Amino acid sequence: MDRTEPVSCLICNGNGPGLDIRGKHICSRCEELLLYLPVGNSLYEYCKERVKLIWADLNTLVQYQ
Ligand SMILES: [Zn+2]
Repeated sequence: MDRTEPVSCLICNGNGPGLDIRGKHICSRCEELLLYLPVGNSLYEYCKERVKLIWADLNTLVQYQ
């Protein structure tokens, strides 16, 4: 198994350390952004839409089972 290819952040495409969720990656910087940006802020809304992709994939997987 050779899975050393870095996964880039779902939001900023950076590859800093952070969360890995089901093959998707969110760097700690973007994770903090989501925590501190006020709801309704356009950047927050953008991040939120990106994060939804993780769960969209999850739903797809569930449907196949
Ligand atoms: Zn990021």
